[in-house]
Amino acid sequence: MKITTQSLCGTMVKEIAAISGENVAKCYQCGKCTAACPVNMAMDILPHQVLRFLQLGLVEAVLNCNTIWICASCFTCAGRCPRGVDLPGVMEALRAILLRKRGFSRFKAGDMPRVLNKGMPEQGIVSGFRKYTK
Ligand code: SF4
Ligand code: SF4
Repeated sequence: MKITTQSLCGTMVKEIAAISGENVAKCYQCGKCTAACPVNMAMDILPHQVLRFLQLGLVEAVLNCNTIWICASCFTCAGRCPRGVDLPGVMEALRAILLRKRGFSRFKAGDMPRVLNKGMPEQGIVSGFRKYTK
């Protein structure tokens, strides 16, 4: 489902702040988060660009990018940020907003045995719950 700017833009920043406790305006675009991110090569919008897009109100691009799903919630970026921006929290808030809008969760507790049997590491399971269960 494609989420439009019209449907979410007006309340987006407030929703992100409410869910993550973070203010995207704190970011001053130094790029350290992107430089440290271990999966940035797979992202169509880089981590620091996600924040810049949100600062500029370019909500639709962020909601429809692959970055928020590629993010592994590893917190490396948050540890490097000189402004203390909780970027993983913002990514999680974006995922939560989308999933709530769509009205379903992709990953359910009942899926756990199947995932465990495939040998997924614990970090992957925790990351999956962060992404898909809201
Ligand atoms: S490291 Fe922090 S201040 Fe620098 S671009 Fe990333 S979020 Fe913004
Ligand atoms: S939390 Fe996400 S954006 Fe931040 S460094 Fe890890 S994978 Fe990259």
